Amino acid sequence: MFIDDEEGTDDALLTHQTLIDTQERLGALLDLMPTGLIIHQMQGILYANQQALSLLQQTESSVTGKHFLDFTNTEVREECGELFMRSFMQDKPVQFPQIKLMGAPDGPRYIKATAGRLPWEGTTVVQLLLEDITELKLKADELENLTFHDVLTGTFNRRYFIEQAEQLIASALSDNTHFSLLIFDVDWFKQVNDTYGHLAGDEALKAIVDVWHANTRNEVKGARNLDGKLARIGGEEFAIFLPDIGLERACTIAERIRSAIEAHNIEYGGRTFNITASFGVTDLRAGDKKLDDLIRRADIALYRAKENGRNRVESE
Ligand code: GH3
Ligand code: MG
Ligand code: MG
Repeated sequence: MFIDDEEGTDDALLTHQTLIDTQERLGALLDLMPTGLIIHQMQGILYANQQALSLLQQTESSVTGKHFLDFTNTEVREECGELFMRSFMQDKPVQFPQIKLMGAPDGPRYIKATAGRLPWEGTTVVQLLLEDITELKLKADELENLTFHDVLTGTFNRRYFIEQAEQLIASALSDNTHFSLLIFDVDWFKQVNDTYGHLAGDEALKAIVDVWHANTRNEVKGARNLDGKLARIGGEEFAIFLPDIGLERACTIAERIRSAIEAHNIEYGGRTFNITASFGVTDLRAGDKKLDDLIRRADIALYRAKENGRNRVESE
């Protein structure tokens, strides 16, 4: 017990001295750096320059004794913890992936960090170099959003639908799991525009997406939630892949959405109207290789739904 305590006191003295040394040697110079710098002992932060303090939204006194991991978002903390430990064990610098910091009042902040062990006497320390990538990350998110989303309805767009197809189909084929495709097209939509105006038509498209979300929010199969993946693949045509879902259940889902669309009142410019949609459903079969095989059958089913009077579900 006593021996432990003495060692503890020695450690504390050493740490204290190290801290003073660090600040004296480098102090003002490091505060001018545009990069965040943290000198970190295994147990906690020894020193942080001004840029690091501002990134972590801390002051000199509030940061002392804290741990870098305290500032990382809980989603990434475990991974960061492992990398952090590794940086103490190896000579080579450790590159962290993009790190989301704990919630800041002005929105999420992201940093890039590199940790490298320093050859210091007495105690093992690493230096963490922090770069603010918040703006870059938000711009990249925005770009991805624009690339893969439909601006009017907020759903995914045709490009995303096609891009995800290859991977989804390949994994359904290799895992030999159910996989369905559901497409639907608004009935007499030209007439809707002609009667109520193009803006009312836009409103109807948005309403369809709301109806979809309201009716699929709780539809979970395995770990997947159907809510999120609807794509607008044409003017008034939507599609979604249904991984793990067979033809019969896909038709049941389509029927539920069909009747919900029919029952939904759309209000625009003081007028109320209703729309309907026709559905084509198909599933992945032996011999199918790519998206075209599925689309072709779903289209045949959709045409049949139109031919047979619209506002109905057909499968092929
Ligand atoms: P059907 O039942 O056979 O599908 O008839 P339809 O009138 O829906 O089909 P058609 O292909 O003749 O017309 C589609 C219409 O959809 C024509 C086009 O002006 C309209 N449309 C396409 N994109 C948009 C959009 O973003 N907003 C609005 N308001 N209308 C759109
Ligand atoms: Mg149509
Ligand atoms: Mg159409």
